[in-house]
Amino acid sequence: MTPSAGTMRGAPGGVELIGSGRLRLATAWLGGCSGCHMSFLDLDEYLLELSQVADLVYGPFVDAKEFPTGVDVALVEGAVTNRANLAMAGIIRQRSRTVISFGDCAITGNVTAMRNHLTVTETLDPFRCGSEAPPVFDYAAVPQLLPRALPLHQVIPVDGYIPGCPPGPDRIRAAIECLLRGEPVHVWIGISMSRTITIDPVTRIEGHATITIRLDDAGAVADARFHVTEFRGFERICIGRSIWEMPGITARICGICPVSHSISAARAGDAILGVEIPPVAVHLRRIANLASLIQSHALSFFHLSAADLLMGMDEEPSRRNLWGLVAHHPEVARGGIRLRQIGQKIVSAVAGESIHPSWAVPGGVREPLSPEGRDRIAALLPEGLAIVRGALGMLDGIYARHEAEITAYGDFPSLFAGLTASDGGLEHYDGSLRFTDSAGVHVDELSPEHYAQAITERAEPWSYMTFPYYQPHGDREGEGMFRVGPWPV
Ligand code: SF4
Repeated sequence: MTPSAGTMRGAPGGVELIGSGRLRLATAWLGGCSGCHMSFLDLDEYLLELSQVADLVYGPFVDAKEFPTGVDVALVEGAVTNRANLAMAGIIRQRSRTVISFGDCAITGNVTAMRNHLTVTETLDPFRCGSEAPPVFDYAAVPQLLPRALPLHQVIPVDGYIPGCPPGPDRIRAAIECLLRGEPVHVWIGISMSRTITIDPVTRIEGHATITIRLDDAGAVADARFHVTEFRGFERICIGRSIWEMPGITARICGICPVSHSISAARAGDAILGVEIPPVAVHLRRIANLASLIQSHALSFFHLSAADLLMGMDEEPSRRNLWGLVAHHPEVARGGIRLRQIGQKIVSAVAGESIHPSWAVPGGVREPLSPEGRDRIAALLPEGLAIVRGALGMLDGIYARHEAEITAYGDFPSLFAGLTASDGGLEHYDGSLRFTDSAGVHVDELSPEHYAQAITERAEPWSYMTFPYYQPHGDREGEGMFRVGPWPV
């Protein structure tokens, strides 16, 4: 039987701390969707309190590259699904006093283990990208999948469990409140003799990745690669499932943007059923989706990027994170936490839960919005708007300081793709798929059901991402490459 939330084996009143005074807390993300980490961020203002008594020494929110020694408590999200997860689980166990299985994927395998009735070859089938030959991967670049995704306790002894998909913030808080104290973060970026710079893991992004940069003899960049290192096989495990399950399953692709995934799956279900859903359901889906954008963008700007922009790229890496922001720019940190909270509260008011709501369904939505929920949303908006305006004002100052970099950053020719409303305006839920070139000239516009005619994919042995491109331009030297985003032209 799963122990109750926050139970610590052999540590009924909390762990005995390795350091003196502060809790050295680490979080790790194995084969999961990050939803458990998003629920950790749903601690909201309690994060400010936590930063007074604990150091976050490792995890996707901070820049430590090596799991440090002397960790008091490690919260481990996700199942053990590949060899890197397996190695990491061993390191975590060796270096942590208390290891907690954080969420259902770590505890039972959950959605990550849905591939377990398939062979690895069957799971990797989507990477054939239309070819007859099975895909070949470079396992020096991406970790090899294990035959089965395993719960954490099948691989290492764990000391406690925080169940849920994701566990709610109250439950996480109840567990954390057992614990205290910590030490500075150790940062490591490996530079090998073969002149390859490896950044592993890439932190403060939304996903699992490694970057390798190969330098030539003159020290110039000869090659640079961004390796997506996590693969859970949704393309394959969804085949044959009922359309009614799809919003719930696809939401677990990503805990940061589960609402968009689940609404997309519900919309595909609408099309399969051939139904036009009630206008009010469209409005509600749109509201939930936009609220999700608020929380996701607040996360991206305040929790993940603001430390670089406000404290500077040269700030000591162990401080360059949300914790450092709380210490050096507490009002900004507070505003970011609040804005994300507002987004999450609106999602919750509309869809019942903030992470993985079971609400959008083929044919509409499960619940209407209550008048109380509507009033709660309306009361939150002025404060949210004020925070956004404050952030935009702050960005003006940041842009002014980085004018030179801004003109060069990401400045390369490519296509752009995005959803466009019938009047050419910004669209996030509906509309047509428009392609333009770097000069803003329209290249193509099609309805979403013709997506597969315009966009195709290729696979590479060094990444678990397939590479989509605009088919009519082909993929020679990146000609069909496109960047995505809302595109109001
Ligand atoms: Fe956590 Fe659920 Fe996501 Fe697994 S699917 S990582 S349990 S939120």
